[in-house]
Amino acid sequence: MLALPGAIMRSRQVEKAPRPFFQCAHMECTEPAILRRDIKGIELKLCKTHDLFYVQQESDEFCRVEGLDTVEQKRDWMLAKLASPRPTPAEHWAKVLKTPGLIHQAYEMANHFFARHTYSAPEPDSAWSSNSSEPALGEAPDPDEQAAFVAWLNQTAREEPEPPEFAFP
Ligand SMILES: [Zn+2]
Repeated sequence: MLALPGAIMRSRQVEKAPRPFFQCAHMECTEPAILRRDIKGIELKLCKTHDLFYVQQESDEFCRVEGLDTVEQKRDWMLAKLASPRPTPAEHWAKVLKTPGLIHQAYEMANHFFARHTYSAPEPDSAWSSNSSEPALGEAPDPDEQAAFVAWLNQTAREEPEPPEFAFP
């Protein structure tokens, strides 16, 4: 008998236990909490709607501090932000490590990134130490060679998968 692909796929599906219900920190709310957010030093479990409520509060505060009052000002700020160079994955993860109050998985992912990066990066010293044209101590490094090395570093960093976006407070 010929089994249809759909039947095969259904037979392979694992029955998932329903997720446990977590009460949203807003007691009048009946929606399940989907994440935890640090609100003024207190970790709150929040549903999607109430998470967005706090995101909006943070955004409003950011715009107030930055002096972004009108839609035109906010649009110009965004356009300038988009036009500025994007951080490399290494810069992104370094910023994650320096930012307090993120979920612990963010720090784990950052540490994994730097662990991978160290292991995968070739040792420049071993390639150069036997090179007789290596600059003597005190001599300024060749700017072309330096630029090529920086370009190579950036290229290596950009080949890493895109890091997920985290909201920096
Ligand atoms: Zn809620």
